[in-house]
Amino acid sequence: MYDRYSMTADDFINDDEIRDTLAYADANKHNAELIKTIIGKAKLRKGLDHREASVLLACDIPELNDEIYELAGEIKRDFYGDRIVMFAPLYISNYCVNGCVYCPYHAKNKHISRKKLTQEEIRAEVTALQDMGHKRLAIETGEDPVNCPIDYVLESIRTIYSIKHRNGAIRRVNVNIAATTVGNYRKLKDAGIGTYILFQETYHKESYLKLHPTGPKHDYSYHTEAMDRAMEGGIDDVGCGVLFGLELYRYEFAGLLMHAEHLEAVHGVGPHTISVPRIKHADDIDPDAFDNGIDDDTFLKIIACIRIAVPYTGMIISTRESKSVREKALKLGISQISGGSRTSVGGYVEPEDDDDNSAQFDVSDNRTLDEVVKWLMELGYVPSFCTACYREGRTGDRFMSLCKSGQIQNCCLPNALMTLKEYLMDYASPDTRRIGDRVISEQVSGITNLRTREIAIRHLADIENGERDFRF
Ligand code: SAM
Repeated sequence: MYDRYSMTADDFINDDEIRDTLAYADANKHNAELIKTIIGKAKLRKGLDHREASVLLACDIPELNDEIYELAGEIKRDFYGDRIVMFAPLYISNYCVNGCVYCPYHAKNKHISRKKLTQEEIRAEVTALQDMGHKRLAIETGEDPVNCPIDYVLESIRTIYSIKHRNGAIRRVNVNIAATTVGNYRKLKDAGIGTYILFQETYHKESYLKLHPTGPKHDYSYHTEAMDRAMEGGIDDVGCGVLFGLELYRYEFAGLLMHAEHLEAVHGVGPHTISVPRIKHADDIDPDAFDNGIDDDTFLKIIACIRIAVPYTGMIISTRESKSVREKALKLGISQISGGSRTSVGGYVEPEDDDDNSAQFDVSDNRTLDEVVKWLMELGYVPSFCTACYREGRTGDRFMSLCKSGQIQNCCLPNALMTLKEYLMDYASPDTRRIGDRVISEQVSGITNLRTREIAIRHLADIENGERDFRF
């Protein structure tokens, strides 16, 4: 039976409840009165439950859909201003014992290059990332207890945090590794990770079992209950997501929101981020082999509806998406994007060719970080390299309550501007720097607290004079 408080996957992601929700959403997709009521509730900016949000997703009345997009954009601006947080993935090992049918790392793929970085190679990768200007990474690995044990991941995190190259430093390491034990999550917490990210891939249990036919990931409950174990292990920032294209998107959407509701109900804090990956071509993988691919318009509607349903949850889009899709997605709710990404193991130091391919998927946005930063600013955004919340202990429910009271805004804009200034001084091309300095001088007046504004202006000058790493 559906129970968001239950610790059992089949109860908090309950198939009957999802099917009822989809039937309800379908029955009401032309119900203008109900849809307007739900939009009215969403305007209070306190979010929606999975049923209400599913009705908005199903809504096929064009004028009301326009209202949904407009509201998503407004909520995005209210909560995140013009800021877009920047990150890069770092693939450290692609050894994998699982059989995930959509992923080129699956164990039966004998022609993909298998690689695992040594600590020396990690140093080189991280130095290359620091030279681009990155401050925030997401570690990515396949699942292999022998070739990629937790101790290797922990050692790699220590290595990454230890590298201080010129003015560079990785200040937040997020981790996207397979579901693991409470003990291992505790070790990750102690190693100082930011967010623990784990995509559900699909919430549809029957499909999940078929899509993960072999290996430890086959265990649907163990995978679905992983965030609870992570939270039990002390990690309070977790990142959810599904791989769109595997199952019916409406099913995934309801499941994703039910997962968020479960985490909020049980742990008092929902997911810190939601990612929206779509399945991509990769070595051995043809995305057309999957029947549930979604077009760009559907994808954007999903993003808008997630934005409305969980306003406090950051939303991430990767370079799986093209420049033009990313541009539209940013308007509707995305708050965090990657730039200059390589999805191969060791790819920042040595780009690969077709004969030596360890990549997880093809990227659709091949621009450099500098090009992405410049493009964002030309669109009116403030690229942010901020990692302050996590470093100041503003995580989990502390972070959420500051968000909910609006107090977080006193920190976010000045931190974004100060970290952007660091980027401009240390890494930007002359063109990007010129545009960036203009953006900073325009945006600084948007810091409403006068004392904070004064301090931020002083620190911006300090950064110009060579000092680094200020934060509120
Ligand atoms: N191995 C880990 C696990 O078991 O969750 C996670 C890391 S994996 C490196 C990161 C994510 O890439 C996966 O969770 C999956 O959603 C996504 N992915 C795998 N194959 C993909 C493909 N062909 N296209 C797009 N994304 C893919």
